Amino acid sequence: MIFNNRVAVVTGSTQGIGLAIAKRLAKEGVKVVVTSRNADKVNEAVAEIKNDGGEAFGLKCNVTNREEVKALGEKVIEKYGSIDILVNNAGITRDSSFKKMTDEQWDEVIDSDLKSVFIVTQELSKYMELNKYGRIISLSSVVGLSGNFGQANYSAAKAGIIGLTKTLSMELGKKGITVNAIAPGFIETAMTQEIPEKIRNEIIASIPVGRPGEPEDIAAATAFLASEEAGFVSGVTLSINGAMYRS
Ligand code: NAD
Repeated sequence: MIFNNRVAVVTGSTQGIGLAIAKRLAKEGVKVVVTSRNADKVNEAVAEIKNDGGEAFGLKCNVTNREEVKALGEKVIEKYGSIDILVNNAGITRDSSFKKMTDEQWDEVIDSDLKSVFIVTQELSKYMELNKYGRIISLSSVVGLSGNFGQANYSAAKAGIIGLTKTLSMELGKKGITVNAIAPGFIETAMTQEIPEKIRNEIIASIPVGRPGEPEDIAAATAFLASEEAGFVSGVTLSINGAMYRS
């Protein structure tokens, strides 16, 4: 894949899918900015990438806090001079049946998984506009397409990302910026470890390709959408789910 000395910000990139994306982009020669809420974990991830021969820089940033995101943008520009690739990966779940879901559970997930994409993209895409070049990739979910028991908040947030992606692909297209979403299925990370074992086994058994996804499956597709060669791919939601849900 072709990357011309680009700079990427990956949110929530100290573990799971975000870390796999950060590592993959670094392997492709991209300068990677690792961010998350935990400073120690950020430092560990940066050290890991550097050990593997990549170039990385880390900053603690809560994606629900506009001031922290603004400061992140300014510091990345100071360090690397541009922001070319943004991966909106940070996200949480707070599962509950719809009947029992509290305002707090609803608001926390909408803030962390959807409003954060609005905030981070608004604050960082302005630097892409200056260079008339950008690649924005946001992590939606199969659940945003199919719905899921116990995830009214999460499925609404992840479906929201798909609508936001389509609108931004129209508004930013003439500025040289592509905007796409990825909808992973069941991927082995801390997030899916929280699912009770019986249900996990049932989900895995329902995947036609016969295995759960790995973070690297998502990282490979993200790298393609982030590459120079994907310049005519925009407004798309790419399902990566082993044919678990056929959209
Ligand atoms: P994970 O829980 O392992 O990692 C999530 C990361 O986001 C963590 O580093 C966490 O600290 C960070 N984060 C959460 N809230 C944050 C905030 N406010 N500010 C900064 N960082 C924050 O989860 P994962 O499985 O790697 O998921 C990554 C993304 O992929 C999420 O958006 C998730 O919804 C999506 N996704 C995951 C799966 C799956 O099966 N694992 C499926 C579909 C979609």
